[in-house]
Amino acid sequence: MNSKYDAIIIGAGHNGLVTAAYLARAGRKVLVLERRELIGGCVVTEELWPGFKVSTASYVNSLFRPEIIRDLELKRHGFAMLPRSPSSFTPLPDGRYLMMGPDKAMTHREVSKFSKKDADNLPKFEAMLERVASFLAPMLVRTVARAIDVDGNGYFISDWTRDHLNFFRSIELTKSMMFFILLILVVVAAINLIATLVMIVKEKQTDIAILRTIGAAPVNVLRMFLVQGALIGLVGTVAGALLGWLLSVYFPAILHGIESAFGVQFLDASIYLMNDLPTDVRFADVFKVSVVTLLLTAAATIYPAWRASRTMPAEALRHD
Ligand SMILES: Cc1cc2nc3c(=O)[nH]c(=O)nc-3n(C[C@H](O)[C@H](O)[C@H](O)COP(=O)(O)OP(=O)(O)OC[C@H]3O[C@@H](n4cnc5c(N)ncnc54)[C@H](O)[C@@H]3O)c2cc1C
Repeated sequence: MNSKYDAIIIGAGHNGLVTAAYLARAGRKVLVLERRELIGGCVVTEELWPGFKVSTASYVNSLFRPEIIRDLELKRHGFAMLPRSPSSFTPLPDGRYLMMGPDKAMTHREVSKFSKKDADNLPKFEAMLERVASFLAPMLVRTVARAIDVDGNGYFISDWTRDHLNFFRSIELTKSMMFFILLILVVVAAINLIATLVMIVKEKQTDIAILRTIGAAPVNVLRMFLVQGALIGLVGTVAGALLGWLLSVYFPAILHGIESAFGVQFLDASIYLMNDLPTDVRFADVFKVSVVTLLLTAAATIYPAWRASRTMPAEALRHD
């Protein structure tokens, strides 16, 4: 046995086998170790009684991706999908039973034996599951696709982020635009700060003049107003960041509160697959926004502080 391998996979379940097959196809030397005498893991058919083979665990092909069947040419190697007809049979101790499938009419008839209401609702439930599955299933190959790409071994694997590339680019663009719009808001707030400080400087002309006459140098006045502006900016930034963080964290609850108070629904689960808008607070982003805001507010204090430092004591006192 060759003792050098590129990869050793413990367990010959279907995930181990698929991974091993892809690695081997990429030219890697792979060893798969299985503790049972049978490979397949949970996806296994066993002859529990002579002449009778049964799926001892997983029996429905639900998550196995068609890309894998295609890539590994499984049909050529004997893979065949067996239709479920009937799809399930559940006997009960009291003699009753539930036989599902193969068609919708039969399923409805069978479930009606237990609950007419459930039988009527089942198609809606199944349609919802189909929608969720069609959205989620392509995500299953995402991590694998990334890992294989990193190796740069010439494979092209399509996943949902690639299939909907334009959609993701538009989300990224929206995010950048939102940052820009927020920046403009902060600039407006900074201009407000300039106006406030200029008014304070005007109002305090006499006090500045008195300070100057008792020996305060222009640089001291400059520093005083720089510190005052920076403090206003700091308090505003910290309060804004805290408020924004709280709003983001409790956004889903706030949204539901508004919905139930006004009897409206912003997100219809039957259209968008979810009735929540999940939020994800990224501290790196909060930090970036806070630093930019602080820098802008600090810059906004320079002009009013400079005006204050240029106050002529005699001139200011003469007009008082
Ligand atoms: C009862 C049941 C019913 C299910 N029904 C369905 C279904 O109908 N449809 C569906 O899509 N999914 C179903 N699933 C889920 C599905 O079977 C699993 O998600 C899937 O089989 C997981 O595959 P796997 O390769 O990751 O692991 P497994 O199939 O669990 O394989 C792991 C393998 O590793 C081996 N192993 C473990 N430890 C070691 C070790 N230390 N050394 C060597 N070998 C080791 C085990 O013997 C096993 O062969 C079902 C699961 C169960 C338990």
